[in-house]
Amino acid sequence: MTVKELVGKVFMVEILKGLALTFKHMVRPAVTRQYPDEKREPVPGARALHALVRDPETGREKCVGCGLCAAMCPSQCIHIYTSEGDDHKKVVDRYEVDVLRCIFCALCVEACPYGAVALTPHFEYAGFTRDEFYYTKERLLENWDKYMAGPVGTEYFEKFWGPKAGDFNAPAIPQDKERKAS
Ligand code: SF4
Ligand code: SF4
Repeated sequence: MTVKELVGKVFMVEILKGLALTFKHMVRPAVTRQYPDEKREPVPGARALHALVRDPETGREKCVGCGLCAAMCPSQCIHIYTSEGDDHKKVVDRYEVDVLRCIFCALCVEACPYGAVALTPHFEYAGFTRDEFYYTKERLLENWDKYMAGPVGTEYFEKFWGPKAGDFNAPAIPQDKERKAS
């Protein structure tokens, strides 16, 4: 045993260091929040409750029922039912999310080519039955109205999820350049 180790043992240096650390934290302000009395501001871009985006012009869902989100969903918790409308366009009859199966990966949001599905920052949605967590198209549109309508939704897609025009700027193909020049 070295002299340093001996002195350390005699004067209980490690214990004193530990106590000093404890006292230092006792006088610091607590970092624990007394939830639900103290709440944090919603974090923009957080992945919580689902919503279907409402088209501000038509008031209907933006979703066209292409099914890409459901195909990408690793939990297979998105169920889409469509039919053919009068103008032969697809009509989304039902769009449902079984939220209890969701892992909040947001692949559905990334996959959607129309920015028609979103994960809102709202995370306080406890319930007592499984049915409460089965979100229908109407409930998902309501979520959009409640948590994402207006600038919040715009920021969500522009800042976090919206594909930027620059993302699609593929290098020009030589034949195209020649065609344009002629
Ligand atoms: S967040 Fe992930 S798991 Fe949840 S619905 Fe979307 S793709 Fe499925
Ligand atoms: S939410 Fe988007 S990806 Fe999913 S079905 Fe609708 S348009 Fe297609």
